[in-house]
Amino acid sequence: MSAPILDVQNVTMRFGGIVANRNVSFSVERGAITALIGPNGAGKTTIFDCITGFYRASEGRILLNGRGTSEDIGALITRPITGGSHLVTRAGIARTFQNIRLFKEMSVIENLLVAQHLATRNNLLSGVFRTRAYRNAEAEAVDRAYYWLGQMSLVEDANHLAGELPYGRQRRLEIARAMCTSPKLICLDEPAAGLNPSETKDLSDVIRRLCADHDLSVLVIEHDMGLVMRIANHIVVLDHGEVISDGTPESVTNDPAVIAAYLGVS
Ligand code: ATP
Repeated sequence: MSAPILDVQNVTMRFGGIVANRNVSFSVERGAITALIGPNGAGKTTIFDCITGFYRASEGRILLNGRGTSEDIGALITRPITGGSHLVTRAGIARTFQNIRLFKEMSVIENLLVAQHLATRNNLLSGVFRTRAYRNAEAEAVDRAYYWLGQMSLVEDANHLAGELPYGRQRRLEIARAMCTSPKLICLDEPAAGLNPSETKDLSDVIRRLCADHDLSVLVIEHDMGLVMRIANHIVVLDHGEVISDGTPESVTNDPAVIAAYLGVS
């Protein structure tokens, strides 16, 4: 079996006296869909924030193995909050958010172009304008944006304001924006939140297709167990900041520790 795309090793995250994650270890296999589940407040989003460079973990290491050599995500995080996240994006990790974070006053297509400006090492915004290289890079960015709008069935919305799209389309736009940065790993934080059953079913198909057709590995936080069971190859369960179960969907859902955590039995 090939090395995992992501290896989270003994990560602890403290906020003052609050321990949001304690000694968390798990890995994400290349080309697979891994679901991260657990009750409210279990520490799921916090571990995402460590993986995607919003926080530097208090302890432990997070290794991205997408370039053949391991890359320590912590070492990419030079400043807290957004300072490190662009570097993590450039290393090949993209994410979406539990509460949609689009540039709502910009058009749909502009959202995708801005994401590429932030993710590209040869930052287009700081490039020398009117050079051929700049124009080529810009044309490629537009092509890539339209490609992902097509994949997410959003082409007709290209010039609409992002904030005026119906909610389900905003969710798809967030995925398109993440995919525009050509990630190796995408981290989806509750992508089905607020979607109706039909939109959730479509989302399952979209996630599976992304994984199969685009050499992508997926880490997804989700409360909708129907979606999790439809798409996940592997499930990691957090409770009170710690991993309490890790394995196939079948083994995890039959694990007495998981049943107890969800039913509130100790
Ligand atoms: P949910 O399913 O409700 O989104 P979660 O599993 O994603 O929850 P987190 O949001 O990671 O859980 O929160 C884990 C714990 O860490 C909670 O007790 C939360 O209050 C705490 N926490 C998270 N972020 C901070 C912060 N910036 N400062 C202090 N405490 C925090």
